Amino acid sequence: MKNNIPDNLGHFGKFGGRFVPETLIYALDELAKEYFKLKKDKAFRQELFGYLSDYAGRPTPLYLAKNLSRYLGIKKIYLKREDLLHTGAHKINNTLGQVLLAVKMGKQRVIAETGAGQHGVATATVAALFGLECDVYMGEEDIHRQSLNVLRMKLLGSRVIPVKSGTCTLKDAMTEALRDWVTNVRHTHYIIGTVAGPHPYPEMVRDFQSVIGKEARSQILKKEKRLPDYLVACVGGGSNAMGLFHPFFNDLSVQMVGVEAAGLGLLSGKHSASLVSGTPGVLHGAKSDCLQDKFGQIKNAHSIAAGLDYPGVGPEHAYYKEIQRATYVAVTDKEALDGFKLLSEIEGIIPALESAHAIAYLKKAGKLRKNASHSRGERINKNSVVILCLSGRGDKDLHESY
Ligand SMILES: *Cc1c(COP(=O)(O)O)cnc(C)c1O
Repeated sequence: MKNNIPDNLGHFGKFGGRFVPETLIYALDELAKEYFKLKKDKAFRQELFGYLSDYAGRPTPLYLAKNLSRYLGIKKIYLKREDLLHTGAHKINNTLGQVLLAVKMGKQRVIAETGAGQHGVATATVAALFGLECDVYMGEEDIHRQSLNVLRMKLLGSRVIPVKSGTCTLKDAMTEALRDWVTNVRHTHYIIGTVAGPHPYPEMVRDFQSVIGKEARSQILKKEKRLPDYLVACVGGGSNAMGLFHPFFNDLSVQMVGVEAAGLGLLSGKHSASLVSGTPGVLHGAKSDCLQDKFGQIKNAHSIAAGLDYPGVGPEHAYYKEIQRATYVAVTDKEALDGFKLLSEIEGIIPALESAHAIAYLKKAGKLRKNASHSRGERINKNSVVILCLSGRGDKDLHESY
């Protein structure tokens, strides 16, 4: 059985929908129509499958991390190795899907927003592959933090447009990209990098990223002859987590834990924990949990991991939280750095700082195991089989961590 959310207007319960200027409605309708047509088209699915396999490197392995399991006292921790994909993270699953869609729609130009630069690189990559013009919006602050990815995008033939408004980070880059799209919608497709934005983006990006969970589900059934007890993934906008979670939605024995960035601590106000400590509001075209003040002004987010440094989250996660299908927790910058070092030293795998948040959570959950006062998602039984989404590799983060 499939879960039949969202409805045909993109509502996940009270979340999602479309909160955009009138000029974008036509473009979003056109995009939705084309996407839902191609989703059912066998030739399109085969073409995408071909690129995912031969160009990006799917399927990714489901690796049993024995050393980590032993160290944390958890029976079996499997890592879904999205870090091994071309360009180094799960982002390419989505950009390949969307660029094929853009080509079918006859668009000659793609644009994207980027924080850490991972989505910008994945977009610049597919634009090069399909010979499309590409502009990537990036906050000036992030351009300094992630100079290597800026060089990669330029080498791939894209323009990187510095965003100097607001906090000069991801939120402002996404605002500028939406503005560009309103003006150039006829020949431009906007490749949003996560499960946020107006309908149909949250559903479409989820579908493209669901390849993670579909593979993981059949891999674990083959290796363990049963479903996992827990799925764990970091949550920025929420695309790697939703990609893993969604195919298990109806497997009620499987618990899902999304790990947000607690930054310098939830009480410091310097964090990116939109689900754990935000409230429902509207950001970038959809209703979801976000960090806002009492006047509805969006607050600044903070995380050591640039890919998590966003004050909102995809609406499907807000819905999973509301219906208690998933649990959301947060770990600090410091804990994430410990997770980063732990996985590097014990398994020889350097994770992205984003993914290191999920590792850090497991470390913490192991310790809290015996403390009954913690809620369900905060404890992990030692006899558990866990699948953790290793969303990306950490080469980009070495200078942040030393
Ligand atoms: C972008 C990114 C994230 C955060 O984005 P989601 O949409 O929440 O998945 C996490 N990990 C890595 C490696 C990323 O590049």
